Amino acid sequence: MIDERINKVKEILNTKQKISIVCHRNPDGDAYGSSLALYHYLKKAHDVTVISPNDCPNFLKWLPGEKDIVIFEQEEEKATAILKKSDVVFTLDFNALHRTGDRMEKALQNLNPKFIMIDHHQQPDDYAKVQFSDTSKSSTCEMVYDFIENLGDSDKVNKEIATCIYTGIMTDTGSFRFPSTTPHTHRIVANLLEKGADNAKIYNNVMDNNSLDRMKLLSKALGNLVLLKKYKTAYITLSQKELNNFNFEKGDTEGFVNYALSIKDVVFAVIFIEDKQQGIIKMSFRSKGKFSVNEFARNHFNGGGHTNAAGGRSEVSLEKTVEKFLRILPEYQNEIKKSYESNF
Ligand code: 5GP
Ligand code: MN
Repeated sequence: MIDERINKVKEILNTKQKISIVCHRNPDGDAYGSSLALYHYLKKAHDVTVISPNDCPNFLKWLPGEKDIVIFEQEEEKATAILKKSDVVFTLDFNALHRTGDRMEKALQNLNPKFIMIDHHQQPDDYAKVQFSDTSKSSTCEMVYDFIENLGDSDKVNKEIATCIYTGIMTDTGSFRFPSTTPHTHRIVANLLEKGADNAKIYNNVMDNNSLDRMKLLSKALGNLVLLKKYKTAYITLSQKELNNFNFEKGDTEGFVNYALSIKDVVFAVIFIEDKQQGIIKMSFRSKGKFSVNEFARNHFNGGGHTNAAGGRSEVSLEKTVEKFLRILPEYQNEIKKSYESNF
């Protein structure tokens, strides 16, 4: 759908601009995929930098253009100077500036550029001059493809852009299996393959990239798995000590929560991960059906996300966080039951 917003963007991009592209902290495949796809698309006509709040896990390091990304946490002065000079700042795959972390949020708040948001998370904040927010979309990458197409430039989608977009759609849809995957998603993916995205190679680079330590950490996580039959809920805990025992690296726990969700009849799954450095417990929530983990995370754990995938945090100990979770859970028993009944 081509609307007023696309015309506004066309007007802005009509002349050469200084552009920053920013993604959320702890970037995933969709955050980096969408940012780099947009980077490759815009850099032919504009002066473009991708700025990420912190570094990505190893399984994204091969993405075309990844080496050009400026990491705010590592080069704060340089990143701040680039942001200050920007005419336009694209914010991709997040819905509120605080998702970039405390220091980068401040740097962004001190600017007065034209913010353009492209995102698929619920309840977006109102900071963008042009806002593309669509919670029905599988991924921000899918939205970036639509964005390029609506600008009349689908012929400019080259192998690099196709590879980045494919990566984000694949990772955000759990390899095309989540309900957010639509016929439109598959049509885009078909186009991406025609443009040169190598699906087997991308899957291999992202998914078959395990270290032995990660496999052993997974074994530990599965050993810690608890099933609460009454609530059709399962959860996993990982303490900092357990992470250290297996030389934890960023990204190692990605996807672990899905093993809890894969248990028969489970419609609500959680992983609690202790982070001593930040002094928090990071949580990932997943659900099946209508039960909204976005609401759950927002209401109780200072987080948010989507209906079926959200994150949150807690500032008390791992044990106390789990206790709090177990205290709250009974309130949701009916909602979880309904979600189960409508899903199976
Ligand atoms: P994950 O559990 O994989 O970290 O995140 C699941 C989804 O929830 C992602 O789309 C992510 O962007 C979002 N998310 C994760 N943590 C937070 C958070 O603390 N706040 C909000 N608003 N969203 C989050
Ligand atoms: Mn996403």
